[in-house]
Amino acid sequence: MSMNPRNAVAVTAGRLAGWASRTLLHRSGGNIPGAVALRLSPQILASFRSLFSDVIVVTGTNGKTTTTNLLADCLAQTGKPVITNRAGNNLEGGITAAVMQGRRSLTSAQRRGGAIGCFECDELYTARVLPKLRPRYLVLLNLFRDQLDRFGEIDHTQDVIAKALASSPETTLVFNADDPLCASIARRVSNPTIAFGLDEPTGTESDKVSDSRFCAVCNAPLDYDYVQYGQLGKYRCPKCGWERPELAVAVRNIVLGPRGYTFRINAGSQAAGPAGATAFPEPLAVGTAYRGLYMVYNITAAFTGARLLGAPSERFAEVLANYKPARGRMQTFTVGGRPVLANLAKNPVGFDRMLQLIKNSSGHACAFYINDNDADGHDISWLWDADFECLAGMPDLQVFAGGTRANDLQVRLKYAGVPSKIALTVSEALDQCTLSTGEMLYVVGNYTAMPVLCDELEKLDEGDAANMTAEEAIAAADAAAEKDVAAADRVAAAPAAEADAAVKPAAASREPWALLAPGEIAPEFKALAARPLRITHLYPEEMNLYGDTGNVQMLYKRCLWRGIPVEVNSLNRGEQADFSGTDIAMIGGGADRDQLAVQGELLKNADALRAYINDGGVLLAICGGYQLLGRHYYLGDEKIEGAGAVGLETRRAGEGPKARLIGNVSVRSEIVRDPILGFENHGGRTFLDENEKPLGVSQLPGTGNNGEDGFEGLVHDGVVGTYFHGPVLSKNPQLADWLIERALRRRGMDVALAPLNDAEEEGARAAFEKLLK
Ligand code: GLN
Repeated sequence: MSMNPRNAVAVTAGRLAGWASRTLLHRSGGNIPGAVALRLSPQILASFRSLFSDVIVVTGTNGKTTTTNLLADCLAQTGKPVITNRAGNNLEGGITAAVMQGRRSLTSAQRRGGAIGCFECDELYTARVLPKLRPRYLVLLNLFRDQLDRFGEIDHTQDVIAKALASSPETTLVFNADDPLCASIARRVSNPTIAFGLDEPTGTESDKVSDSRFCAVCNAPLDYDYVQYGQLGKYRCPKCGWERPELAVAVRNIVLGPRGYTFRINAGSQAAGPAGATAFPEPLAVGTAYRGLYMVYNITAAFTGARLLGAPSERFAEVLANYKPARGRMQTFTVGGRPVLANLAKNPVGFDRMLQLIKNSSGHACAFYINDNDADGHDISWLWDADFECLAGMPDLQVFAGGTRANDLQVRLKYAGVPSKIALTVSEALDQCTLSTGEMLYVVGNYTAMPVLCDELEKLDEGDAANMTAEEAIAAADAAAEKDVAAADRVAAAPAAEADAAVKPAAASREPWALLAPGEIAPEFKALAARPLRITHLYPEEMNLYGDTGNVQMLYKRCLWRGIPVEVNSLNRGEQADFSGTDIAMIGGGADRDQLAVQGELLKNADALRAYINDGGVLLAICGGYQLLGRHYYLGDEKIEGAGAVGLETRRAGEGPKARLIGNVSVRSEIVRDPILGFENHGGRTFLDENEKPLGVSQLPGTGNNGEDGFEGLVHDGVVGTYFHGPVLSKNPQLADWLIERALRRRGMDVALAPLNDAEEEGARAAFEKLLK
């Protein structure tokens, strides 16, 4: 391919910039050549299209890098040169840089359409990349909540991908049909589609949080025959009949054995490649050492893509066996004779997969690193959506928190019942750890945390684990841990008194930050023993964005730690509300779609809710939930009817970069001493009626209820409405205690609450205040 002069200049300038960055600044160079070339020649990626006979692009929230790399390895079996962005630089600049680099190793014959392009692409960048590369296939893996401060709501990501596909009508969408969020894109676009999925229940994993189990057509809640994890599974809408599309590529015979997953990929004639050949004429038997169900999806996606582009499936088993995960993806190291396993996790679903692994493999130490740089997303409230609770009560587990948001992580762990220490580096964690030989340290970090951790680990690595896969390393560590348990058992079995102490159930012991042990009642709250303080969580399944559920956990624990009898119940879809026993209610935020799904339910119970509020009932309403307390929420032509319980109206702002108010925020309020801190992300603009009082005055211009009048939230008797996530109480324990005190007063107890040790919360506040400057 001969290049036009502008592109030639752009390529040279880009390469020079990359060289300068590597040589002079000692940086990896990654995106830079591509970014510089793009600046000089915005269409440069389109001009590279003629290098390729075929292009395949992989997108989705989790598993992009793993799938793309495995796919590229399989495609190499065609004998054609494969150009790919292995390191996960997945914006347009990263893809451009990968092509610029790969192009140099092509012969001139290969430059005339002899190569295959295999690229992972950020979800939002599909809109830029698809029209330029016009791939034959777009593989869509899954859509989970991730970096919502960048993506807005998942609906927006769906819109972008659908638009990207419209701009490249020849592209066939290969999509995970188990994910209703992916299937709904397939339903909307006119591109050809190929559905893949797991065609039987596996019963192995499931999550508390799902990112939408509503029908893409009519918004009714979906019925599931079975759920794999998150919102993935076999679903059907009981109202309109929309269901998981028929699987062109169906995975069956899925068995999790001691050595990982085995399964069979079956494909019908719908899954045909360019030459019309069926993707898998025979079912393909796959055996893998991986133990996460997500890998079954990733492998299926990669193998399907590779088959569709003509790679020989008889070679796939070998490719998979030799597959080396990318840097920081299930990578093993040996440090000080101890095995360390490092893995990236950057959203609740990814984190849950790791937490399950730690829980099930007798890991004796783990260190979590959470950064909030641009590439990670500035909002980390999703930490409250991950199931850290599963680590509670593991008596020997040592837990460390690091990263720019180490303090927030500590708060999260605290309310999950998991004490932790700060360790900003792996060495700091290892120094503070007491691990027997062979016991594993799990290192989990998010996007920008991981490369730094890998740098450190590579320096410290003694190399012994280099030949072990992650699975072998885990098995070895498990065996070491079991030996340890056996030794501990022998000790415990000796003197009876000591043994008793050793088996004392962890749950009954007092947590370090509690004034009393769980179940103990403080004398001043004896009167509540017969009818504990009740926290009612409204529509937890639908209204649960950004860890808002954490508010319930915080209220509950702050009562428990003080010896206040307390219980939690919930009001779910289809239930008649009865607030007669409720002392504090909480409703979280939700995407517009979730709000639409819940409005009917709320209207049915609006009278009961209004009566509760008029009776002085305490209610914390966050963002989407706060909007629903008002009269209406207008979404362009659509309208969501609110409960009409307080005087406010909300309108969604139009399109454009400023349509959503997103960022870290602070408000001065009369009801608590210190500023209320949190994170906002909303398209709706709320205006209070004259007679309503705001929660406070925004400390930052252009934030709060509507970005205009300087107010944030609302206080109306016992109701606190706010746009703040975080979850809001995690950084504002004073507000939590205001709600508890108010609820106690309504129960006839005018007490000042005993102060708790809020060191972790104070740490998180101090770190957050620096971010606001
Ligand atoms: N969907 C609503 C909005 O965009 C609420 C969002 C939320 O709860 N975070 O304004």
